[in-house]
Amino acid sequence: MLDEIHFLGTVQQATHHANAASFDLIGLSPIFPSTIFPLNLSSTRIVVSGTEAAFSALVGAKLIASLHETPSVVAESNFGHAEPTEVAAAGGSSPRSQFVTLTTLKNAEGLKTRNVLVLPLPPMTIEQPCVVTLRLEKEGESNLLGHFAYAFVKSMPLTEAELQARRSRVGAMKELGVAIKCLACGMTSQLVSLANPAEQPPDLSPTRQWLYSLADQWQCACGKTTMTTKYLKEGLPAYFRDDGSINHTGTLLNGVPLYQNRAINALASDYHTLINSSPSEEIVQVFLENHPLFWSFLSPVQIIHKPSILTRYKADFAILSASKSLIFIEIEKPTTRLTKANGGLSADVQAGFDQVRDWRTVIADHRLAVINELGLTPDQVHQIRFIVIAGLAHKISPNQLHKFRQNIYAEAEFFTFDDLEAFIHRLSGALGAL
Ligand SMILES: [Zn+2]
Repeated sequence: MLDEIHFLGTVQQATHHANAASFDLIGLSPIFPSTIFPLNLSSTRIVVSGTEAAFSALVGAKLIASLHETPSVVAESNFGHAEPTEVAAAGGSSPRSQFVTLTTLKNAEGLKTRNVLVLPLPPMTIEQPCVVTLRLEKEGESNLLGHFAYAFVKSMPLTEAELQARRSRVGAMKELGVAIKCLACGMTSQLVSLANPAEQPPDLSPTRQWLYSLADQWQCACGKTTMTTKYLKEGLPAYFRDDGSINHTGTLLNGVPLYQNRAINALASDYHTLINSSPSEEIVQVFLENHPLFWSFLSPVQIIHKPSILTRYKADFAILSASKSLIFIEIEKPTTRLTKANGGLSADVQAGFDQVRDWRTVIADHRLAVINELGLTPDQVHQIRFIVIAGLAHKISPNQLHKFRQNIYAEAEFFTFDDLEAFIHRLSGALGAL
């Protein structure tokens, strides 16, 4: 019976629909691409098909995964009782309870049915790309289900602009690592990595090792446990790029957050003092350069300081956002007056908008050259926007402020320096809620 169950491949994602009668299989393939190793097999789902009778025979069977190159490395899981009805979900009989979805496909006459089953692999850690062999076993019967391969997808190191941008994310990770332990000698080690491999954390110790100081592998004191470090080194940039992805099961990664609430509150307080102390434009510049968190409201994926707009102009910042907007930012001073005595735009604010108008003209004529000069490609930029930051809203009355906002040009979005302060306070609130 078990030989009537056929292996279709691995899936990146299996989404079960609310009506429970259908599900999507995304990325069905005999190759499973992974952006990192070590990886736990149990995070991988496979798809099999078979007749109802064959699936009934699964109850009490074992799914066995072994490494093709080293068949002695084996993991197994058991099948609990699964009703082979149209749709059934069953928990595994072992403590490693399984998520199983059974959907029946029928042909037009409804005569021949095939069942499709999505199931997780047994738990086992693999440290590098490999071929996995799957077998089903029951009561002495052994059926070779099939093979599939784990492939490694290397990620490029983060660029300077990406390193800046990740510091604007309130949920960013300061460090990522993997903890390993030798079961023979008990030696444990946390392999630590930072987004920028040119830096290294100061608090290293025998139990906290800098990943990039290790050769191709980690080895314990007794020599019985080794781990390849190549795939961690070449895979971690993907996780620093997308901090949320470390929560995907199977990666074995752990992390230390870059920001804590207290640090954000301190930053907001420093900024408040700064902008109310009549600082020069340059000092504010440097402060914002050092604290990219202020750009969080733009969801940056790259932040470029002092970007050129061809050879003619220089903006203060250019930010590429997650939604593919390229945003040029012009910064004036916090002391910049917003309005004239008669209520119109002050000369300084007007100058900021005139600046943006000049940029806009150059960009309209040489859009591609401007984008290329920043090291970007046209497909990364769907839209170009402009922001002017000047003055303090609390220096004028709400009435004046309202009038001011009505008067500003559509040429650019406008923020005051205390608007940025409000954004930071909101972040600290968001972090508190995490
Ligand atoms: Zn050891």
